[in-house]
Amino acid sequence: MDQEKLLYFKGLLEGRLHTLVEEAGKTCNDMRKDGNGEFPDPTDRASLESDRNFLLRIKDRERKLIMKVKEALDRIDNGTFGICESCGKPISEKRLMARPVTTLCIECKTELENQERRERLRGTKSKSSFPS
Ligand SMILES: [Zn+2]
Repeated sequence: MDQEKLLYFKGLLEGRLHTLVEEAGKTCNDMRKDGNGEFPDPTDRASLESDRNFLLRIKDRERKLIMKVKEALDRIDNGTFGICESCGKPISEKRLMARPVTTLCIECKTELENQERRERLRGTKSKSSFPS
């Protein structure tokens, strides 16, 4: 993927991270009973990274989303963004636009979903170790 596209996705992901952190902060503020909690500046990725408490206090679902976005940003930095984790082929840009945090191409994702459906049908409780 060329540099210009990477920068585009980086901007997209950073915007998403910003929104998620801001919303998580709000939820946190709502849940807070005492008035002495402090939240990092949502625009500052470094402070978020260093504040583990923040991540521990927000909801599990939001935390997972934030982690996914951060992982995608890491992949942009280390040059693996847009490459399917399973088959190593490039993920289509259309798919990345819709879901920039994805690590699987549509073929692998479909295969994974079919696999999960089969497992559910069998009634197994074991989670697939396949990354989603
Ligand atoms: Zn694939």
